[in-house]
Amino acid sequence: MGTFWIGTGWKMNKTVAETRRYIAALKGLWPEGAGGCTVFVIPPFTALAAAREAIGTMPLLLGAQNMHWAEAGAFTGEISATMLEEFGIDMVELGHSERRQMFGETDAALNMKVKAALRHGLRPLLCVGDSAEERRAGASGEAVVRQVRLAFAGLDAGELGRCLVAYEPIWAIGEGGVAATPEEVRAVHADLHVALKEMGGPAVPVLYGGSVSAGNAADLAAEPMVDGLFVGRAAWTPEGLAGLIAAVAAARA
Ligand code: PEP
Repeated sequence: MGTFWIGTGWKMNKTVAETRRYIAALKGLWPEGAGGCTVFVIPPFTALAAAREAIGTMPLLLGAQNMHWAEAGAFTGEISATMLEEFGIDMVELGHSERRQMFGETDAALNMKVKAALRHGLRPLLCVGDSAEERRAGASGEAVVRQVRLAFAGLDAGELGRCLVAYEPIWAIGEGGVAATPEEVRAVHADLHVALKEMGGPAVPVLYGGSVSAGNAADLAAEPMVDGLFVGRAAWTPEGLAGLIAAVAAARA
């Protein structure tokens, strides 16, 4: 059994001071048996330096929530991979549905971002998701496979092998979201695994995200097609993330 990925994206939440407190508390709460998990946090850009310092030697990976594809230039308000590298980050979240919906992020732009991240040794965490309409039409798998194919177009096997995918149904994330059932997750993850294999990659881990909670984490983690959990609200406290790590570790023991 490979490592199980578990991490949290903080969206536009947490100051530098809050970030320091979160990581210090998480250190104290670190669960026994977390060894089978690869844990990550994805704070806002402004808290990356503080997070890096607070993490120290903890086995906790650090990610950014977005980046531009260009090395530098006239892109006001954007952040490059070179800039992120200075913070010693491990990974970069790309294509969250909020960025696609609110900031017009396209599959073509994501393809350039994925390639830029890989050039800089950053592991892309590509988020893909189906809308409620696509779900009703029975087209969830088709929708997310299309997003993965476009974002990963042109990658060779070695590059694919450094990527992560998070299946985050748009209808499941955030306030008002309802988690996908293990059956729904199983079906879509199966489609994603088949497509990723067809693209020539070694096994690319596929994480699930969307209303993951203390109540459903163990069941989701027990699904053989689920290689990790990407969590929002339920892991925005250190107690929340530590509890999820412990539940997942127990479910997979
Ligand atoms: C998300 O928005 O990526 C997410 C997983 O959120 P939540 O867990 O809060 O539904």
